[in-house]
Amino acid sequence: MTVFNGKGVYGAIALGKISVFKRREAEVRRVHIEDPEAEKARLTAAKEKALAQLQEIYDKALREVGEANAQIFEIHMMMIEDDDYNESIESIIDTQSVNAEYAVAVTADNFAEMFSSMEDAYMQARSADVKDISNRIIACLSDDGALDNGSDEKVIICADDLAPSETVLLDKDKVLAFVTAHGSSNSHTAILARNMNIPAVIGAGKAFLEAIKDGMYAAVDGYTGEVFLEPDEETRARLDKKKSDDEAKKKLLQELKGKENVTLDGTKINIFANIGGVDNIGAVLANDAGGIGLFRSEFLYLESEDYPTEDQQFAAYKKVLESMAGKKVIIRTLDIGADKQVDYFGLAKEDNPALGFRAIRICLTRPGIFKTQLRALYRASAFGSLGIMFPMITSVSELEKIQSICNEVKAELMADGIAFSESVELGIMIETPAAAVISDRLAPMVDFFSVGTNDLTQYTLACDRQNAALEPFVDTHHEAILRLIELSAKNAHANGAWIGICGELAADTSLTETFLRMGIDELSVSPSFVLSVRDAVRRTDLSK
Ligand code: PEP
Ligand code: MG
Repeated sequence: MTVFNGKGVYGAIALGKISVFKRREAEVRRVHIEDPEAEKARLTAAKEKALAQLQEIYDKALREVGEANAQIFEIHMMMIEDDDYNESIESIIDTQSVNAEYAVAVTADNFAEMFSSMEDAYMQARSADVKDISNRIIACLSDDGALDNGSDEKVIICADDLAPSETVLLDKDKVLAFVTAHGSSNSHTAILARNMNIPAVIGAGKAFLEAIKDGMYAAVDGYTGEVFLEPDEETRARLDKKKSDDEAKKKLLQELKGKENVTLDGTKINIFANIGGVDNIGAVLANDAGGIGLFRSEFLYLESEDYPTEDQQFAAYKKVLESMAGKKVIIRTLDIGADKQVDYFGLAKEDNPALGFRAIRICLTRPGIFKTQLRALYRASAFGSLGIMFPMITSVSELEKIQSICNEVKAELMADGIAFSESVELGIMIETPAAAVISDRLAPMVDFFSVGTNDLTQYTLACDRQNAALEPFVDTHHEAILRLIELSAKNAHANGAWIGICGELAADTSLTETFLRMGIDELSVSPSFVLSVRDAVRRTDLSK
């Protein structure tokens, strides 16, 4: 047995035979041509064919994984028509008198390299997209458009990497799981795996690729990211059991849909979901969350190549509010900096980014960016029940500045005759020890607190959350953290505010009773944890 470690991108277990993904890649040779115009005409015909194929893939994705996830194929269609991309191909044909296949391949390499060398993880992941569309055009040039997973049996698909279009074309009835040697968890392939509910591990490494052969037996643990090649009896039995326990648990949890989040002695709590974008709404609804407790709006900025405009943001926020049909939606204002860097902000490199220029500090220093977001949020507030939450607060004066900017934005909208709701709730994240310690001063100024335990842990224990070497020192149940949460809850309630928790700790069911006893009003967790937290709440008895 050999064990390989990657990143689990969808939590589920699979055991079965491996099928190595066969990609019919046309071999590209450099051929001298006499007539560049004829070559460009061939290119145009191939692009039209590729566009027609992508339209079909888009339609399939739309049916199977929804509009938001299908969008990547619309982007692929746009990439095929991108001016820079096409100018590069045509200029190689013209200046070097070479065949279209070669010109596309060279352009693909250049663009892919350019994307991979960018610092932004999202842009790096676009390198796979440009290769994907280029391979499709090359296949169409050689009249071999179809891509094939090469297997009829239900198998574990293994590949160096899978392009988004290849992932969506996998027949879900024939795929037990997939494992790739390369690829990032930020890629659309990973996002699609999550949405297609396929157990998947990404980035199992080059050695994995060298070790596998068609027909080998493997066990894939999408929770831990482990892949066991030819597992021994004991591992096989352990994973078989984990798989059936997992399936039984998921089935049992489904029965909790539509049930209340109420303890045995009658205490009720809200269980909301955390999202990173409009894409995740399907999962929120499927898991029966009562609202959205944290929409990390920075993903709109991270996914964009320039500042998202007021209208673009408005459209995204409105869509989330409308999809939640009157249920509470809490949108957090921009939280970039530290581990989330966006090139076009041009932020200076810092020696200590976690303690640096991030989140509200950027918004208060660049009020233009902040006001654009707030205008979009207030405009969207007319379409549902909105809460706006501010990250990384440390002082009363920050909150005073925020309140005054919110008032300016509302006055401007009023003067422009633009509708907004008068009942938008304003809240802050309690994610610095400073905010927790002065929560008695902050609580009278807000409608709610939401505890960001990820950062609160980092700052309280002085352990950089990005530094894996510090894991032995990170005690997420540390008394200091629990005391800060308890203090914040006491001060929130004493001042008529409610308090939730939206960091990862909210999903830790070994603490559900502790949080309920502190009087926490809301727990906001990843959509897939909503039902397990509901289960924990319903088993708790606070009367004892
Ligand atoms: C947190 O810090 O707990 C939190 C929810 O915010 P993020 O993880 O986005 O920093
Ligand atoms: Mg945080």
